Amino acid sequence: MSRIAALKQDLAGIECHDDPALLRSKSMDFHWYSPVLTELLKDKTADLLVVPKDMDELGRVAAACARHRVPVTLRGGGTGNYGQCTPMERGVIVEMLKLDGVAIHPGSATVQTGCIIGRLEDAARATGQEILMFPSTLTDATIGGFIAGGFGGVGSIRHGVLKDPGNVTRIQVMTLEEEPRLIELHGADIQKVHHAYGTNGIITEMDVRLAPAEDWRHVIALFDGYEAALRFGVAAMTPELPLRLLSSIERGFAPYYTQFGHHFPETHDAVFALVAAQGLAAFEALVEQHGGRVSLAMTDAGIQAAGLLPAHECAYNHTTLMALKKDKAWTYMQLAFPQPFSIAQAMDLVQAFGHEILWHHEFSLAYGSYGVFAIPLVSYFDAARLVEVKEAIEARGVNVFDAHVVTIEDGGMKTIDTAQIDFKKVADPHGLMNPGKTRGWLPGYAVP
Ligand code: FAD
Repeated sequence: MSRIAALKQDLAGIECHDDPALLRSKSMDFHWYSPVLTELLKDKTADLLVVPKDMDELGRVAAACARHRVPVTLRGGGTGNYGQCTPMERGVIVEMLKLDGVAIHPGSATVQTGCIIGRLEDAARATGQEILMFPSTLTDATIGGFIAGGFGGVGSIRHGVLKDPGNVTRIQVMTLEEEPRLIELHGADIQKVHHAYGTNGIITEMDVRLAPAEDWRHVIALFDGYEAALRFGVAAMTPELPLRLLSSIERGFAPYYTQFGHHFPETHDAVFALVAAQGLAAFEALVEQHGGRVSLAMTDAGIQAAGLLPAHECAYNHTTLMALKKDKAWTYMQLAFPQPFSIAQAMDLVQAFGHEILWHHEFSLAYGSYGVFAIPLVSYFDAARLVEVKEAIEARGVNVFDAHVVTIEDGGMKTIDTAQIDFKKVADPHGLMNPGKTRGWLPGYAVP
């Protein structure tokens, strides 16, 4: 009997699927933004999809996979960008969506990691609170996928990134062993599993901090030139302005955002923001000081009634999605600018690449200070030109986090995180979790 057949026998009573089309779709995430990854991962698929409905079933799945030495790839909403939940060595995809319990407390939430982030936000809002940050994939992504695969996002301008102390205060991890254990991580130890792509344990539950809910307004400000939009963005990075989102968007995006009509015309560059109602007047005054004007300021209900996209779906990596819907010739890059942010350096890049790159900049708080990063669209010719563009940007002193690679280290992390590898030896001693995603794990480490 094959290992997978034996595994299936052990999983009797647990929801399993082996339909090839379903397996193929559950082996995909949003790596199709990258033509390089699309080619690299085109044949990668799992043998089995397993959907545990509770912790008992999850424990049975972990034990059986360890016993039969079957590779395991965890899946939340499948919105990651780098093939993070695409299995490199077949095996089992464990979909976490049914482990989605939420308990809201004053100032915090305890949440199972299969919970969709938007549902957590709704539960927090029902108590007059809100989550600190979310990816623009709020409606599809899970909180587990965010901590295991994400970085920060909408809300980071106010609260920093996931890694910042106090934003996530506790994580519970189930080990992938014949007899799975639950390990609790607190404080700095949380970093052992944050952004580890599910390679070193199943994150089952976490405690996240909540803030008092604000009445956010979706705002577009227009500027006569991208440099003016950047100058405004830099000036608006202050704790005096209550913001949840601050993104400058070049006018070249307007053809992809036609629903906004005169609110975002092709004649102007824009800043998309989420501004708390009590800060709107100060925001507008600052826009005017920078020669701009506010073209739209709407409540959630207003945006919905007008059939418009919320501001957070016009920023971060949703920009790429919006553009790709109309023009498949784009791909993207991820850049972090040296601090303090230099507008001259940013504008030098804007001018250097002309129409080859379409810019938007994200203003954010991270590790205690304000900073600027960018996820620009890049016109795709071939992989070699992509490397040339990356090198040319780096030669101008700007850090590129490669979005066209599958390992943690070649992408955002840059170096092997030995604390994460040491934790993998504890939580995944047989080296079965998401194989091929970390260069830090060597074959000799696996307990046979
Ligand atoms: P998945 O894609 O399902 O998984 C991501 C990784 O986490 C995989 O390696 C998976 O194996 C692992 N994983 C999933 N669940 C668990 C678990 N319980 N335990 C351990 N490992 C697990 N990211 C940001 O950080 N900020 C953004 O603003 C942002 N914007 C985005 C916009 C768009 C349009 C897109 C397509 C992506 C964006 N992303 C962003 C990336 C992604 O949406 C987020 O990181 C999201 O939170 C991932 O959640 P998910 O449930 O979809 O994770």
